[in-house]
Amino acid sequence: MSTIPREELEKMVKSWLEMVEQITRSEGLPIVPDEKTGDPVWVDLRELRLKYLIPIARIRKFFDGLKEGKVYATRCPVQDVYFFPPQADCPYCMDENLEWVEIRGRGTLVTYTVVSVKPASYLHYPDYIIAIARMEEGFNVLCWMSVDDPSQLRIGMPVKLVVKRREPEGFFTYYLEPE
Ligand SMILES: [Zn+2]
Repeated sequence: MSTIPREELEKMVKSWLEMVEQITRSEGLPIVPDEKTGDPVWVDLRELRLKYLIPIARIRKFFDGLKEGKVYATRCPVQDVYFFPPQADCPYCMDENLEWVEIRGRGTLVTYTVVSVKPASYLHYPDYIIAIARMEEGFNVLCWMSVDDPSQLRIGMPVKLVVKRREPEGFFTYYLEPE
């Protein structure tokens, strides 16, 4: 398990930036040794901050549900298909009047993987498990799985969908857990 606390990460980035600045100042060129190979690399620095803003007005009920510990899907009564994560429109009949259905939350584990090599913005999380489960209602759910010991996971085992806070951010989201 490799977790880098956010403050630690900020410190590492900051000290690397200071090194680049020092070298540029003393050598006159922003060329530093690559951290892994030691080969010279040119540092072209431009800061990029990503912010995703996703409109949710028409699926607001899903998020309100999470706060009550419920997980909702939408369902097209005409086609009898579920949409999860919920969609506001049915892509088959273009119907906007989909039903909100609380997911019963029982399913079986289809597959999973333990993520130990994480994207930069996920380094502050402990190693996590991404899993896919087939729910009783007949659709798949892809999300993080919370389990104390990943070695106890078995494909085909019964799992349930639960709502918990994602820490350290503290927002409610859904996880799979062994039943
Ligand atoms: Zn439909």
